Amino acid sequence: MTSLHHQHADAVAATLDAALWQLDAHAVMEARAIADLADAAADPIRSPTWGRRHALGGHGDPVGDAILGLGGRIRRNRYADLSREVTEQLDGVARHLPAPLGWTAPLTRIRDAIPAMTTHAAGRTTLLLDRLNGRIRRQLRIGTGLDHLAGLECPACRDRLVSAYTAAPATVICRCDHCRCTGPGCHCRLPGAVVGAPHVWVRARAVAGAIPTNTPH
Ligand SMILES: [Zn+2]
Ligand SMILES: [Zn+2]
Repeated sequence: MTSLHHQHADAVAATLDAALWQLDAHAVMEARAIADLADAAADPIRSPTWGRRHALGGHGDPVGDAILGLGGRIRRNRYADLSREVTEQLDGVARHLPAPLGWTAPLTRIRDAIPAMTTHAAGRTTLLLDRLNGRIRRQLRIGTGLDHLAGLECPACRDRLVSAYTAAPATVICRCDHCRCTGPGCHCRLPGAVVGAPHVWVRARAVAGAIPTNTPH
């Protein structure tokens, strides 16, 4: 059975994917801005090369070398730097997973592998994806990727700090700091209850009528 860690990993992977798309878009815009600066400086400059998304979806080998030379007068493309760093970390996980035919973006490979992961591995993967997601979203200042749902209570702690993942809106999570599952027998009575996981469930199980409020967190 799919555990709470697996459900959480799926939702966080979708959220990270959405963040990476925005990061790559910022990297492209920043490259143009840097190129404009370089033109204005009328100095020879190396053209940035840009990764392109693979047809399978996901994130191509990102994005861009930092602008070289010019004695540091042209800024680095910090979005491209972060995209490359995130992709390298994802690749470090994906290279241990079963390889599909052809090239597939590392995050896609990780997402495809989640259902077959052990509960422990799904929990570890969630932590990594969540950390990378947070780094990107903080740099882009685009919020957490969660929408607060008014009127919805957690089945375990009965608090109302429940949010849906924007990129996976059927999946909701209790955001109370101290609300963690205690495994089978937990008050949540959720399928896939596992010790230490946050409470994550499919929205159809939630109280009807919950309204997203887009409250920033
Ligand atoms: Zn809770
Ligand atoms: Zn629980």
